[in-house]
Amino acid sequence: GNTMQQVGGRIGSTAQVNSYRNTGQQVGGGISSAAQVNNYGNTMPQVNAVEGVKSKEKYNGPHPELAARLEKEILDTIPGVKWDDVAGLSEAKRILQEAVVLPLLIPEYFQGIRRPWRGVLMFGPPGTGKTLLAKAVATECGTTFLNISCSSLCAKWYGESERLTRCLFELARTHAPSTIFIDEIDSLCSARGSATEHEASRRVKSELLVQIDGLNNNSNNTPGKSVTLLAATNFPGNLDEALRRRLEKRIYIPLPDFKSRKELIKINLKSVMLAPGMDIDQVARKTEGYSGDDLTNICRDASLNGMRRKIAGKTTDEIKNISKSEILKIPVTMDDFLEALDKIHPTVSPEDIERHEKWYSEFGSS
Ligand code: ADP
Repeated sequence: GNTMQQVGGRIGSTAQVNSYRNTGQQVGGGISSAAQVNNYGNTMPQVNAVEGVKSKEKYNGPHPELAARLEKEILDTIPGVKWDDVAGLSEAKRILQEAVVLPLLIPEYFQGIRRPWRGVLMFGPPGTGKTLLAKAVATECGTTFLNISCSSLCAKWYGESERLTRCLFELARTHAPSTIFIDEIDSLCSARGSATEHEASRRVKSELLVQIDGLNNNSNNTPGKSVTLLAATNFPGNLDEALRRRLEKRIYIPLPDFKSRKELIKINLKSVMLAPGMDIDQVARKTEGYSGDDLTNICRDASLNGMRRKIAGKTTDEIKNISKSEILKIPVTMDDFLEALDKIHPTVSPEDIERHEKWYSEFGSS
């Protein structure tokens, strides 16, 4: 967590970095293996499961020190995200299934003309489930999941970014079959930041292109030992042609439609009690233009309102005296939602949507 914050602090300033900093904290970035979950069962602490991966497949490439640091840095818990945890996005799930999951499950079939796509790009406004989908893919495939954001590739190891990029792919091969998820891939191409940062990102980008080409090299394509590249961006227009061409499959992750919003609200409210008059359809109707992340925030806020009312004006001692079961029994009401809706507004602008749709019609896959 702290390191991610430092990174955000160092490159500094944009809202985009900040929003990703949050994601980074939740995600942590990491190497983990869902296969280990299956092997060891749920009772095994996650850290041990990850250690299991590390001791099984030992890195013996040319950058042992960097690899050890990188492994530690992007060490993560097991994603454990299932397809059903991702609301809506059925088209994106279908494409990911075919482009990423199936080639890993039946590698023998996906040879020659059926070879998997070199890289898969998910683009769309922030908070729409791109990171969540990447985790679901890794969980579904039981692959090692290496999760890194481009801002950390460029900023965190100042001066070592190219080696770091190379090392990332070496690690991915060590832990194959694996999925590399690169968030904010656009930041490699955009010109913001200082001249040295720009230079660093330019070099990382050239290295990344070399590495992506290497993924496609047949001699590296041993069935069952594949490395899949998934990338995400909120600014697809910033990708230059060289990178865009290598991200062969480009999947649009739009804002949730009515049906998906309903699904998302239901997923979010799974663990809370609802008041009799609670109308999820109405909330879904009122939240057009909200992202999945916005909706999650609304659900969280609404579900806290009952407790807020209960403790309003009370002293700490008085609060201590309220029985726990009484608090747990407070249901979430429609008014709680209306109140939350008053406070929380959509974070994605119509211009953003237009920008994505335009890019989709020009470069998107279906
Ligand atoms: P992105 O990577 O597109 O910026 P994330 O996948 O990090 O967005 O989503 C942020 C949070 O918003 C998730 O952790 C989840 O709580 C919620 N969320 C967004 N989209 C969805 C979705 N389609 N289904 C379920 N939850 C979602």
